Amino acid sequence: MRRFDGRRLLVATHNGGKLSEMRALLAPYGVEVTGAADAGLAEPAETETTFVGNARIKARAAVEATGLPVLADDSGICIDALGGAPGVHTADWAETGNGRDFAMAMARAWQELEDVDAAAPRSAQFRCTLVLMWPDGHDEVFEGILPGKVVWPPRGEEGHGYDPIFQPDGHDITLGQMPSELKNSLSHRARAVAAMIESVFA
Ligand code: IMP
Repeated sequence: MRRFDGRRLLVATHNGGKLSEMRALLAPYGVEVTGAADAGLAEPAETETTFVGNARIKARAAVEATGLPVLADDSGICIDALGGAPGVHTADWAETGNGRDFAMAMARAWQELEDVDAAAPRSAQFRCTLVLMWPDGHDEVFEGILPGKVVWPPRGEEGHGYDPIFQPDGHDITLGQMPSELKNSLSHRARAVAAMIESVFA
């Protein structure tokens, strides 16, 4: 495992929430975080069939454009009775051609579970894969998994995406009903970041 001893890190995301979360988490290690938008980067097409494949596409594009070390992530929900779908297509299920509609995406997930008459509990995991890539192309990969189940109807106004239909194991509320501090302490992304910090930064 290669340790990170640089000062600057580019986080290859256009999502302001993810960027400020990373900045805060890495500040104690003296790491200065820049976002993809600040660096003028375009969003590459995510054409791979795995989270790690898509995270590597984003990392490599940003390394080639800037010469900086880069952190990229890819995430989504994998529903067991649907063979792991939507997986890397999590965002695609919400695509309307005119923005994203997550109410539609959640309804599709539930309908597909009904169609296969999936047994309860309808288990699923949120997964997050992080790729930390150095300018010489070396990378280290970290994964965070949040196990739980898909529930219906959607509950809660917090969070984003599929949060209102996902109830993490050990909790009787959905991610959509959790205050952000609680979600951010247990999420798949928090788990992946913790694994990375422990092995590369701490
Ligand atoms: P990306 O990693 O930003 O490309 O996200 C992939 C998709 O997974 C997005 O459409 C998100 O809505 C969904 N997703 C990722 N993490 C979460 C989460 O914590 N809650 C709900 N949806 C999520």
